[in-house]
Amino acid sequence: MVKILVVEDEPGIAFSLESDLETEGYEVTMVADGAEAVSCALAGAFDLILLDVMLPHKDGFEICRELRHRGLKIPIILLTAKTQEAEKVMGLDVGADDYVTKPFSPRELRARIRARLRGALPSEPAAAQPDDVYRFGCCELDMTRFELRRNGLCLETTPTELKLLAAFVRNRGRLLTRERLLDEVWGTGIAVTDRVVDNHIVSLRKKIEDEPAAPRYLVSIRGLGYRFDA
Ligand code: CA
Repeated sequence: MVKILVVEDEPGIAFSLESDLETEGYEVTMVADGAEAVSCALAGAFDLILLDVMLPHKDGFEICRELRHRGLKIPIILLTAKTQEAEKVMGLDVGADDYVTKPFSPRELRARIRARLRGALPSEPAAAQPDDVYRFGCCELDMTRFELRRNGLCLETTPTELKLLAAFVRNRGRLLTRERLLDEVWGTGIAVTDRVVDNHIVSLRKKIEDEPAAPRYLVSIRGLGYRFDA
């Protein structure tokens, strides 16, 4: 039976998470206090942790960092009420695998949990440096193996697409003009048109976005360029 630790201090959310996950067939352990979460996570043989960010005594970022520092490798999904970009990025920098913004749909959360549980199995023995694998949504850009994975499965990509995505990840949250992207990815002095950038964006979106026509990660800034939001 798959064991999930849920760290959540709001009784209403905790209750619905517990019943929802138990209905899914998971064995659920609930903790409401930040200080308790670390010892509980280390003591139990859990397969995944759902971790609220705003908690009494110790916040989710601190808990996550501490668990990773102590060698815990299981997937951690942050539950965050804060939508600010910086906090999302910070959430990922502390070693979380994914985050879900409140209020979240139970269906979306279940899908994220399944994706993480699936992904945890094959990627477990890989010894890639954490900095070389950037995770967003259910995708992973792995610059050590030079591949893009979605739900743990390797996607077919061209080297240019990977270089383009890597440039976005390096500059996440910042506007990148087509000119800048041409310089970063194709190199200066190469005769390609802006249209080439747009075409590659379209094909990348098909690979990383749930709805390529309404992109969540690779957003267009009208008349200026693109920005990677993750
Ligand atoms: Ca909370």
